[in-house]
Amino acid sequence: MSATLLIDTDLCSGCESCVSVCPFSALSMADGKPLVNDQCTLCGACAEICPEGAIRVPEAAPAAGPDPAYRGVMIFAEQRLGRVAEVAFELLHKGRELADTLGVTLTAALLGRELDGPARELLRYGADRVYTVDDPRLEGFTDEAYGEALTQIIRSVKPEILLAGATPIGRSFIPKTATQVGTGLTADCTELEIDAEKRLLLQTRPAFGGNIMATITCPQRRPQMATVRPKVLKKGAPSDSPAGEIVPFNLDWSGISGKTRLLEIVEELSEKVRLAEADVIVAGGRGLQEAKHFSLIRELAELLGGAVGASRGAVDSGWIPYAHQVGQTGKTVAPKLYVAIGVSGAVQHLVGMQSAETIVAINSDPQAPIFDVATYGIVGDLFEVVPEMIRQLKAAGG
Ligand SMILES: Cc1cc2nc3c(=O)[nH]c(=O)nc-3n(C[C@H](O)[C@H](O)[C@H](O)COP(=O)(O)OP(=O)(O)OC[C@H]3O[C@@H](n4cnc5c(N)ncnc54)[C@H](O)[C@@H]3O)c2cc1C
Repeated sequence: MSATLLIDTDLCSGCESCVSVCPFSALSMADGKPLVNDQCTLCGACAEICPEGAIRVPEAAPAAGPDPAYRGVMIFAEQRLGRVAEVAFELLHKGRELADTLGVTLTAALLGRELDGPARELLRYGADRVYTVDDPRLEGFTDEAYGEALTQIIRSVKPEILLAGATPIGRSFIPKTATQVGTGLTADCTELEIDAEKRLLLQTRPAFGGNIMATITCPQRRPQMATVRPKVLKKGAPSDSPAGEIVPFNLDWSGISGKTRLLEIVEELSEKVRLAEADVIVAGGRGLQEAKHFSLIRELAELLGGAVGASRGAVDSGWIPYAHQVGQTGKTVAPKLYVAIGVSGAVQHLVGMQSAETIVAINSDPQAPIFDVATYGIVGDLFEVVPEMIRQLKAAGG
């Protein structure tokens, strides 16, 4: 950040109230006077609290426009245990389109251990260059190390656009990275386009509980940063003869305290089938009335070779763990078949499943909004319809 806080050290009494109020840990005391570091966002909290009026936020300078040194599209390529997350391939496909429109290169940032195989995969899926930081200290995810590594890569490579997956890892450290590099972030985008003339990324996402779609731009800062949930974008086809290169990035570890250590990774047992990757999902809602009735959903899912999903209504009732929740605050899914049983179809549920190829809805209320997105709708009592479906599937040997 070029502008900095204005501190009148003669007026300052050294009370330290500015240090404790700063939400970004940007102030410390040196020789009894406040010292500001580069975490400062000029939010003004310190100026407000200072009893002596010794701190001032500088007047905003007229917008100078984005730094033209920033060029190219970069994606953060998440990997775990040597396996690249599918969302990275989806981002590469969209990234390629954006990079081609802008006439720039498409790069990927890959952090972890033994990255040769994952890096080659990223080249096959369209990256022109993959920056790797291959280090045992990045084997498990921690906010601090990943955030610092990506920040250093961004500052060095200077991409004008940075895309990341809205996965638990992405959601955890990408906002901090955006703050560290001093730019904005649009989370959970559902559409990304380019205004080629202004070189602006048009970042569209649901707003106000999904009732409107907002298109957000970041005209002054670089990079323009956005996250996208898995399965929202389409993955491209891999190339058999990729032409890109792998470039090891030399990370400066001096600013990484290592205060957080990853002790163990424990796989969640309650989610036998990964929802986001399932071709068939059978989801239950509050219409099931009791936890024990989820056995109907499980049985149907098993017969169809699918995974069990749920509405937030069912999750909040304590009938099934959160890992199964589909929707705005749950998972986004795009299976070939989605069967919604006793789910009303609130907009927050629909944003998580409406791109399924075929949607079958079973609901006793003919006015239920789920029927607006359903390919096939069955108006009826689920306690009659579902056992009959199970009976017929069993009879057919399903
Ligand atoms: C910020 C925010 C985020 C949210 N995120 C999510 C999210 O991620 N996912 C999500 O799902 N919700 C989310 N919600 C909640 C959402 O608004 C709804 O409250 C929720 O989806 C309702 O769950 P439901 O459809 O199971 O329950 P209900 O709305 O109570 O619907 C139950 C349905 O079952 C039907 N039914 C009842 N008995 C029978 C029967 N015997 N046979 C057949 N049908 C029957 C009823 O007709 C009704 O349509 C969110 C809300 C907010 C405010």
